[in-house]
Amino acid sequence: MTVLFNNYGRRPVHLVKGQGTEVWDDTGKRYLDFTSGIAVLTLGHANPLLVKALQQQSEKLWHVSNLFASPEQEKLGASLVKDTHLAHALFCNSGAEANEAAIKLARKHSGKHHIITFEKSFHGRTYATMAATGQDKVKQGFGPLVDKFTTIPFNDVAALKQAADDTVGAIMLEVIQGEGGVNVATEEFIAAINEVSKEHGILVIVDEVQTGIARTGKRYAFEYTALKPDIVSLAKGLGGGFPIGAILAKAEMYDTLGPGSHGTTFGGNPLAVAVAQTVIDTVFTETFLQSVAELSAYAKQQITEKLSQFTVVGEGLLLGLVCPNGDAAAYVAKAEQQGLLVVQAGPGVIRLVPPLTVTKEEIDEAIAILQTL
Ligand SMILES: *Cc1c(COP(=O)(O)O)cnc(C)c1O
Repeated sequence: MTVLFNNYGRRPVHLVKGQGTEVWDDTGKRYLDFTSGIAVLTLGHANPLLVKALQQQSEKLWHVSNLFASPEQEKLGASLVKDTHLAHALFCNSGAEANEAAIKLARKHSGKHHIITFEKSFHGRTYATMAATGQDKVKQGFGPLVDKFTTIPFNDVAALKQAADDTVGAIMLEVIQGEGGVNVATEEFIAAINEVSKEHGILVIVDEVQTGIARTGKRYAFEYTALKPDIVSLAKGLGGGFPIGAILAKAEMYDTLGPGSHGTTFGGNPLAVAVAQTVIDTVFTETFLQSVAELSAYAKQQITEKLSQFTVVGEGLLLGLVCPNGDAAAYVAKAEQQGLLVVQAGPGVIRLVPPLTVTKEEIDEAIAILQTL
């Protein structure tokens, strides 16, 4: 027993230092970090650009309330919506909080509280986002749940058409389900979402907490699809390791959240915003996005060639290795012993989510380790 709650199932490794894709534990053992703190460390550990941004801001102003103007939040919001169909941003501190805001905005804007979500989705662990999540294990013992989420099978066009009606205010999805197994939405499914949302006036919320901020080789994963979401939620990779979340929304939703309707003390904190701005300035460039796409193509090709027992799924540097025996946990533990940190996605998939600054040599090293398992 320890003073800490037992809610995480922690592995007994104490990481004390990181640089780029490498981390070291307290015994001096080196690992390649293909977890990135679960798709968080967009630019790797201790990136000099982010260290500098944080240091410089920390000497000026740590915190200011949202009672005051924030040109820094304005700039970050503008960078996030630039060249998209989205117009406005609101900052918070985590993925669950971003989805909570998305759900509140969708309810208030539509005047309806019925939301469709999907099996194997993950949206967070607050009351609303837990209810939205399509996995029973996260809900057990916490009822009664927030009403009303209807959870249907992912990529099931018939189930979607049956569930969508005029009572539904929003459909909420990840276009690539991260925690649930790196499941990619099919083109037909996306087309069906567009169809029913048009027919019944249903808002579309895309949860990009894991897929956003260049993780998949585009700024946002919805850009791979025909979706033009009304609301997008962000967190994980946005701060490159500094906690920050956000929602982005279309112009017509601006008046829905008036003064006093929603907010949070720390949302858009100056330290978080300074770091996130540096992340965005670095990764939202053609060259950077191109490099993620190239690294992804290289990794997929090497995996197909050298790890033929697995099937590789996903986009960009959100990749999944589907395990032949359906037991990812055993591989994750063995990889750790060999100096490679990876994370599960669902019971049967090994998730590879290295920093977007990973090198081909590091990909080679990781694959060589996976070959020995
Ligand atoms: C991690 C995650 C969340 C929850 O984010 P937290 O910061 O842990 O609250 C929500 N949605 C998706 C898709 C995620 O991957």
